Amino acid sequence: MFVQHYSHEEAIMPKITIDEEKCIGCGECVDVCPADVLEMQDDKAVVVNEDECLECESCVETCEQDAITLEVD
Ligand code: SF4
Ligand code: SF4
Repeated sequence: MFVQHYSHEEAIMPKITIDEEKCIGCGECVDVCPADVLEMQDDKAVVVNEDECLECESCVETCEQDAITLEVD
């Protein structure tokens, strides 16, 4: 029997998540991101360019609301 384990065929991508419940729309993360991954939309930060993320964690450290999570597989 074949058992499907986790596939690693896809490129390893960082996963940035912004909790819009926590985000107060200060824009700090957008300003600090060196790769233009984040953008303000309707007074909330959103991820628009995840592929460009450098995993620098600047946004995570900058966000005083702990709204941003960076997961690296
Ligand atoms: S730094 Fe945090 S609170 Fe400010 S816009 Fe970004 S996610 Fe929202
Ligand atoms: S980890 Fe760095 S490159 Fe990625 S979204 Fe945050 S600030 Fe931008």
